[in-house]
Amino acid sequence: MHPARLWRPLGETGGSAPVNIQCRLCNHFCNIAPDETGLCGVRKNVGGKLFTLVHDKVAAANLDPVEKKPLYHFLPGTNTFSFGTAGCNLACSFCQNYSLSTTPRLTGNITGQLTRPERIVALAIESGAKSIAYTYSEPTVFFELMAETAELAIQHGLKNIMVSNGFQSPECLAELKDLIHACNIDLKAATESFYHTICNAHIRPVLRNLKTIRDMGWWLEVTTLLVPGENDSKDEIETLARFINDELGSDTPWHISRFHPTYKMQDHVATPLEALEQAAAIGKKAGLHYVYVGNIHGHEGRDTQCPACGCTVIRRKSYTAAKNDYSHCPACKAHIAGVWSTNDLR
Ligand code: SF4
Repeated sequence: MHPARLWRPLGETGGSAPVNIQCRLCNHFCNIAPDETGLCGVRKNVGGKLFTLVHDKVAAANLDPVEKKPLYHFLPGTNTFSFGTAGCNLACSFCQNYSLSTTPRLTGNITGQLTRPERIVALAIESGAKSIAYTYSEPTVFFELMAETAELAIQHGLKNIMVSNGFQSPECLAELKDLIHACNIDLKAATESFYHTICNAHIRPVLRNLKTIRDMGWWLEVTTLLVPGENDSKDEIETLARFINDELGSDTPWHISRFHPTYKMQDHVATPLEALEQAAAIGKKAGLHYVYVGNIHGHEGRDTQCPACGCTVIRRKSYTAAKNDYSHCPACKAHIAGVWSTNDLR
């Protein structure tokens, strides 16, 4: 156990009895009684103080192409050292990574290998990665490990990537402001009912955080997993596309990903290819310059087209794009939005 940050006691702390705690890390703002954990299952009230149970418990680590996060406009062709701990603050019925995300909440069991930030950064450097990605489960719930690792990574010339559901508290995002360079945030649906009934969360904090992230200047890409019959109506896709285009900007890449039946949604079919293509067409019609079809290998919907002349600027046969300078269309010289080299970063 390691002391957690971003919490406050509820009630008087001077007496002998331990008090409840409000965790202020994400928008659940859990009220945690002594000896209990919050909804994520990895932050515990011990004696009136909050502790994180995953501070140095890395449960998954890999060297991944940055395109796998997915980030298509951030240092393409480079690898990112990716890791995550157990636990998540949401409870999505369609979770594609449920064994990692749900175990602490459902069983109290927290798997992982003792790994300090120094070791993570050393492994990233040894592997030749250009960045570290906080991913796989939900990095918000391992905030302390992410923040310490990110700070050290910057000192060693690495960049930091967060792959998240975007349900952080404002305090959490403010703490991360100068530590993260790029992120992919899920925008899971256009409705509160989807977020509430399927994910045990709320949509408004996610929409607010997306705008905050855009204002903070991190490179931002957005992902929507299209679940048949749940979030794939034409109206909803139009609403999502309009929000991204109007509030985040037409240069924001939008990844529309294929759902595979899993966890509590094994009764649903995988997203048909036509549905993904139709959603991508709606995104482009709304004005978005870069809309991608995800989770389908070899599909041309993964390529980047020049928004001015339509010529293909980046082909992505598998995950890895060839290394190049993609900042301008080779045909018409129009600007292609993105972070194409570390010189483009602060
Ligand atoms: S991080 Fe966990 S404990 Fe804290 S508010 Fe969110 S779900 Fe609750």
